[in-house]
Amino acid sequence: MRELTSPSAVREIIRAHGFKVRKALGQNFLLDANIIEKIVQAAELSREDLVFEIGPGLGTLTRRLARSAGQVIAVELDTNLLPILAETLADFPNTRVVHGDALQADFDKLAGEYAGGIFGQPGRGYKLVANLPYYITTPLLMHLLTGGFNLQCLVVMMQKEVADRLLAPPGGKDYGSLSVAVQYYTVPEVVARVPKTVFFPAPEVDSAVVRLTRRAVPPVQVTSEALFFKVVRAAFGQRRKTLLNSLTGSGLAARENWLQVLAAAGIDPARRGETLTMQEFAALANAFQQHLG
Ligand code: SAM
Repeated sequence: MRELTSPSAVREIIRAHGFKVRKALGQNFLLDANIIEKIVQAAELSREDLVFEIGPGLGTLTRRLARSAGQVIAVELDTNLLPILAETLADFPNTRVVHGDALQADFDKLAGEYAGGIFGQPGRGYKLVANLPYYITTPLLMHLLTGGFNLQCLVVMMQKEVADRLLAPPGGKDYGSLSVAVQYYTVPEVVARVPKTVFFPAPEVDSAVVRLTRRAVPPVQVTSEALFFKVVRAAFGQRRKTLLNSLTGSGLAARENWLQVLAAAGIDPARRGETLTMQEFAALANAFQQHLG
């Protein structure tokens, strides 16, 4: 079958199936074979790998993944794409399309249910490669990182401004709770910058491909992860206020308690939340646990 890396091939398959592109589902189909190659290279796939894809769309990236990986499980929300995928993936018996919402997916469970042979063994790590639906990039990343899944490496295309937030160091406007969460769980790096012109239809923003390599051990020690992330969110809650006011505004503890905790952690209450390093957030959360937990 013809590869789907040209506007004419994509238009043809869409027309043949009477498919209507749904912008509300973040449907921007990738047309560029070079970008697909960069994504696949970044995932360093071998026949030993089980790979999940979120949103296979027409199957363009899925076909390329199936050529390098051992097994591919692709989770697609739009039922109207299923007949197209049945056609475009027909030559790849190592692919499996699962209809569902990636935001609700339990990837370990799906691996157990749909991956054959060694790929479905409990506790076996896997990768995820996707051109994400941009309307849910942040909640999807949080689901993937905090869901406790056996995901070892993610290579994901997203809007450039979200990629900037993932990699942001403390102090700037891009640094926020998403930066801290991503950098706590993974080592993020941009592997490609991608212009809008390589999609059909073109999205409104430029994109970037990011590789997130799961850390074996977190970069800081916290007594409670849940509390650590609560404190991080509280510190970023009101960005134009001082750290003390932002923390107090969160309702987690009273002002005088926060003053005590900040003193114990050695952090100036007049600072802004966005200047704190991951180490300082950890110190703050651990002091909170010790004094108020
Ligand atoms: N992988 C294809 C490509 O690169 O050309 C399509 C990528 S497109 C940016 C995003 C895909 O995610 C679409 O196929 C869309 O239908 C699908 N999608 C949207 N929301 C989803 C969700 N909650 N769960 C799974 N797939 C979803």
